[in-house]
Amino acid sequence: MCNNGLPTLLSMAKQRGFLTTVTTNGLLYPKRARELAGLIDLLHFSIDSSDAAEHDASRGVRCFDKVMESIETALALGEQPDLLFTVTNDNVDRLAEVYERIAYPNRLILIINPLFEYNALGDGLSDETMRAMEALARKPYTYLNPAFLTLRRRGGNDPARPVCKAVSTCVVISPFDELVLPCYHLGLDRLPIRGRLYDLWRSDAVAGHRALEGRYEACRGCAVNCYFEPSFAVSPENRYFWQSLPSKMRYSWTKFVVQRLRSKLGGTRVAVLPDVESPAGPAPAGDGDLLELPVLR
Ligand code: SF4
Repeated sequence: MCNNGLPTLLSMAKQRGFLTTVTTNGLLYPKRARELAGLIDLLHFSIDSSDAAEHDASRGVRCFDKVMESIETALALGEQPDLLFTVTNDNVDRLAEVYERIAYPNRLILIINPLFEYNALGDGLSDETMRAMEALARKPYTYLNPAFLTLRRRGGNDPARPVCKAVSTCVVISPFDELVLPCYHLGLDRLPIRGRLYDLWRSDAVAGHRALEGRYEACRGCAVNCYFEPSFAVSPENRYFWQSLPSKMRYSWTKFVVQRLRSKLGGTRVAVLPDVESPAGPAPAGDGDLLELPVLR
């Protein structure tokens, strides 16, 4: 959102047939929403709690109000943002509230995103936390890739039998025009791009990293969602691919069929948001009367 050229970058990506996605804490979205309208296929607003003070403490910046404003702005512009809830052992008890009070009344998809684990980063999610995530994910307008949890229960990536395909599936570019390999988190190599990304991608240096993706000792136990989601998607030989598939189909149906039809037939919408001053009040009813379409459960 800080990048002035973002609308141009998104337009270029869309012209080339890419799906575009932007994740934001909402601080700058209301200001830039008009110039970004129609350019983002998967717009994600991060939310960590239904309680403003808890959310702000988790983010380290006061932005809960901005997330609410972002939802209002996006719906008024005909966008269908998703809410991205990164689940930890500490905030899992707020998950259902965010769904019932904010996501579902607005028929927005709540992405249930387990906190990633890498080296010392990320607390191990308890079994209780994972079960709570799985229970909520049975409701409509939610998305959880269950393979993320299976990977965690099996101890994350094993360098001897790696699941990771970070180099094969992701192109990681730093703000300094460098290709970062094998992934942003490990960052063993930073190759200057200087307009030759196509050749670089086919170079021996990248091929070397591709051969070792997921095989470094530092890869042991890794479960960084943004690399494993595409890794699962290209590995039909393993169980993660098949476990991911139904959740992907369900998300795509809701996102690209149900929400698009609702938007087409219902037009722009006024957000239904909880009264943050009285968080214990009843959950808003939402605009379900406007148009209800079947969602996959
Ligand atoms: S296993 Fe993790 S640390 Fe290793 S290359 Fe893959 S994403 Fe990077």
